[in-house]
Formats: sequence, structure tokens, C-alpha cells
Amino acid sequence: MYDLAIIGGGINGCGIARDAAGRGWKVLLCEQNDLGSGTSSASTKLIHGGLRYLEYYEFRLVREALMEREVLWGIAPHIVWPLRFVLPYHNKLRPRWLLRLGLFLYDNIGGRKKLPKTRSVDLSRDVTGLPLKPQFKRGFEYSDCWVEDSRLVVLNAMAAAELGAQIATRTRCLSATRQDGFWEVVLRDGVSGETRNIRACGLVNAAGPWVGDVAQTVTRNNDRAPVRLVQGSHIVVPKLYDHPECYIFQNADKRIFFVIPYEQDFTLIGTTDQDYQGDPALVHASVDEIAYLCSSASDYLRVKVTPEMVVWTYSGVRPLYDETGDSAAQAATRDYVLKLDAPDAGPPLLSVFGGKITTYRRLAESALAELAPRLPAVSGRAVGWTAHEALPGGDFPMEGFDDALRKAAVRYPFLAPAHLRRLLRAYGTRIGEILGGATSLDELGTLYGADLTEAELRYLVRAEWVRTADDALWRRSKLGLRLSKSEVAAVAEALRRILETREVAA
Ligand SMILES: Cc1cc2nc3c(=O)[nH]c(=O)nc-3n(C[C@H](O)[C@H](O)[C@H](O)COP(=O)(O)OP(=O)(O)OC[C@H]3O[C@@H](n4cnc5c(N)ncnc54)[C@H](O)[C@@H]3O)c2cc1C
Repeated sequence: MYDLAIIGGGINGCGIARDAAGRGWKVLLCEQNDLGSGTSSASTKLIHGGLRYLEYYEFRLVREALMEREVLWGIAPHIVWPLRFVLPYHNKLRPRWLLRLGLFLYDNIGGRKKLPKTRSVDLSRDVTGLPLKPQFKRGFEYSDCWVEDSRLVVLNAMAAAELGAQIATRTRCLSATRQDGFWEVVLRDGVSGETRNIRACGLVNAAGPWVGDVAQTVTRNNDRAPVRLVQGSHIVVPKLYDHPECYIFQNADKRIFFVIPYEQDFTLIGTTDQDYQGDPALVHASVDEIAYLCSSASDYLRVKVTPEMVVWTYSGVRPLYDETGDSAAQAATRDYVLKLDAPDAGPPLLSVFGGKITTYRRLAESALAELAPRLPAVSGRAVGWTAHEALPGGDFPMEGFDDALRKAAVRYPFLAPAHLRRLLRAYGTRIGEILGGATSLDELGTLYGADLTEAELRYLVRAEWVRTADDALWRRSKLGLRLSKSEVAAVAEALRRILETREVAA
């Protein structure tokens, strides 16, 4: 018997699982595929207030999101770090006074302490002006943060599991019915095909873009789910410029998009915003979206970005709350909405609509505030604890990454600097669990391509629920950008072997 069952292992489900487990509730989370395999690995990966949401007067959302930047940087300084964004002034688009006003609010409503404030930039002299067309002479530069989105999901799941939660990946929730004052939940293991029943006092539908599908087929609510599915795609091209700053560009269609240095050797460009129908699992970047992103970037950059340069694309579906559905896709609210269905004396169902990676922790707090009066009394950590306790591997000072890297270089001198940096960025203080007492690269086992070793793969299986090559190469890391087809096949084969021997050993 569980206190809380959660459907969906994206950022919202895992964030709620961590908070609830820490507060003392007995939690089960089921994810039909891999953790973060839905929208939560397809974001732009920004912890941001969302400058453009100010235009829609979403002050509460922007303020809450801005405040989360330093909170999340503080609890996960390995996977979250500050970025500077350059916003060039474009004489045919938003006026300069409006940009200045927006950035003034951005700097001042969100409790900024460590992040540097906005400044004006003379793009004809500054290094950030070099990649831009010469007509862009003035601009602003402001701060937001980066997050490794799919790793944030898995770290929340790990933290929840370490606090006693059951995390069932590759496990689909088939049905949930109210029976004798509890939820009777049927789960199917996607690997063995076996089904099992569990009981829970409360249920959370955190199925992201599948929230409506789960409402119809799993919990069988009759109401139409007020969710609007909006597709967003990104393209990745070889590195377009050398400095570390990002760009936020405006388009004539009022949309904005980002150009961001990515994985050392690449540049990330996104995103699009278009209504989506169909199965969210099948979403992919269309030829038109790729062309749109290339031509939008080429309007600002000296270099012409073409579809032939694209080395990878990814696409996700935003599950936005929208009761009317009559506005432009980009205007639908990015705020989250929680709907509690708690009939008298019946077990509660909480459904999550919308939300951003940035505000997942606050969403989890609000979700538990709704559910707490209807769940068994427990005595765990206090409300708000997730703002202060580090996520796995993040237990070092928020500005301490370089220091941690120096210390790790002394401890593991045999690792190439780029390899060590990648491991420390991914696993933080937990790198010891991969590297153990190794004193040479050979001791880490087979090298599968780029710098992926057998020791890392074994850790990913042991500690991070990795089962397939995609899990390891596209969600726990982005090594998929660097491995050849035959190397990917070797990783898949190695995982099969590791999983088999684990099962035999178990
Ligand atoms: C293009 C794009 C860019 C974005 N950029 C940003 C950004 O820069 N910053 C930001 O803060 N936010 C951003 N967002 C928003 C953010 O990514 C999403 O709001 C967030 O990831 C939603 O998380 P979720 O947990 O609700 O959904 P998901 O991550 O989709 O998780 C839901 C999970 O439920 C599982 N599931 C569904 N049905 C079942 C079932 N029956 N049984 C078991 N499991 C089930 C699915 O497999 C899925 O993994 C962006 C979104 C998009 C699409």
C-alpha cells in the first residue's frame, strides 16, 4: 500500500516524487518508457523567467521562475549554470524602451543575488557582435541559467528513490479506479509484459502531453482535459562561433528564438511553436520547421545556416493548459495549473497541466499542498525542504564547479581534461562511484566511442535506470552526437550483456 502513486516520470512527476518521499510519504512512480523520455528531454534547457511572458502580463509566473534560477543552481551546481544572453536591438521590431523596461523588471522582480545584471552592449565593438550581421549595432545582455533537462529528471528520481520511493520505469499505468476508499492501480511491466495491482491513498496524473489520454483511458474522467498540445523543435549544427554567450533573437512573427553554444562543439537553435495533433511519442522536427529555424538564424548571423548543416534535431510537445484554445500557440499560458478531483471521502486525484522545467519544484510544492490534507499524516522533512537539499552529486558550493574540477584533476590525473569535465558536469560528486579507485583509463574497461567507458555504462545501469542505448546516449548524456552507428550498436550490445549478467547475479 502506497500513500501516493504518480503516473509519469517527467520532471513534474519526479519532482513531486522527491518532495513527497522527503516529506515522509510512501511513494510509487511509474513511467511507461525511460525517465525524461517525454517533453522533459526536449526543452531548450533554460532555467529562465521567460522575458517574453512579461508581454502577456504573466508576472507571477515570471517572478516565481526568476527566483528558481538561483535555487536550482544552488541545489544542482553540476547540471545548472549561469549563462549570458545577448538581445540585439532590431529597428523594425520591439522598441528599445520596451526591451529596456522588460529587462529592468527581469533584473528586479526575481530576487537576483549572484547572477550578473543586465548591461547595454555596443555590438560594433564587443566580441558578441562578431558573429552578427553589421546592421546590429546595439543590444542588451542579461542572465539566465542552463540546465541539463533530462539529467534533472533522473536526479530527482534518484533522490526520491534514496528517500524510499519506488521508481518503476518501463511500467505503464493501464487503469486506476476508486475502490473502498483507495486507488486500485493496474501497472504493466513493459519488459516482462506482466501486470500487477497496487493500492494508493492518492493519485497524481503527471503524464505531460498524455495527461488527457490518461484522464480518458486510465482514470476515465468524462470531462475534456483542458490541454493544448504545442510542438517545439530544435536543430543542432556544428559550432557557429567561439565565445560562450547565447543569443535571443526576435522574429517578425513576434516569436523569439535562441542560439546557444552546445556540447562544446555545436550550436543549438530553437524553438518553434505550432499546434500538434496525434501521438506525442511520434513528434519530430518537420522539414518546414528546420527551414524556418535555419532562415531565422541566418537573418541575424553573418554565416548562412542551411538544412545541410543540421547534425541532429529534437522535438517535444508542450502540454499547455488552455480552456479556450482560440489564441496563437505562442500566447497559450506557460503557467501550470493543478486540478484536484477529491469527491467526499473518496481518494484524491491531482492532474498536472502545463508548467515549465524551471518551476517544477514549486509545482511539486503546490501539488503536495493540495494533496496533504487528504493523505495520511506523516512526520518527514518540512515544507520547502527541496530548495535547500542538494540533488545527487550537487553537494558542493554553487560557484564551486571550477574548484571541484581542479580537485578531481588531482585525484584522477589519468583522465583527459574534457573527459573529466564531462563526468563532473554529469555526475558531480558522485563521479567516485564510476571511477572508484582506478588509476588508469584501462581500469575503466572497454572504451565504446568518444570517452564512454564500460565503468560509466555499468553505473548508468546500476544507479540511473538505463536500459537502452538511447537512454545512455541521448538522455543521461549527449554522447549520441559523437558516436558512429557501429559504436552505438556496440553500446546496445554491451547494455544487453550488462543487464543479462545483472539478472543472473540477482
Ligand atoms: C520545445 C520546448 C521547449 C521548452 N523549453 C523550456 C525551457 O527552456 N525551460 C523550461 O523551463 N521549460 C521548457 N519547456 C517546458 C518543459 O519542457 C515542460 O513543461 C516539461 O518538461 C513538462 O514535464 P512533464 O513532467 O509534465 O511531462 P513529460 O516530461 O512529458 O513527462 C510525462 C511522462 O508521462 C509518461 N506517461 C504518459 N502516460 C503514461 C502512463 N499511462 N503510464 C506511465 N507513464 C506515462 C510519459 O512517458 C512521459 O515520460 C519546453 C517545452 C518544449 C516542448
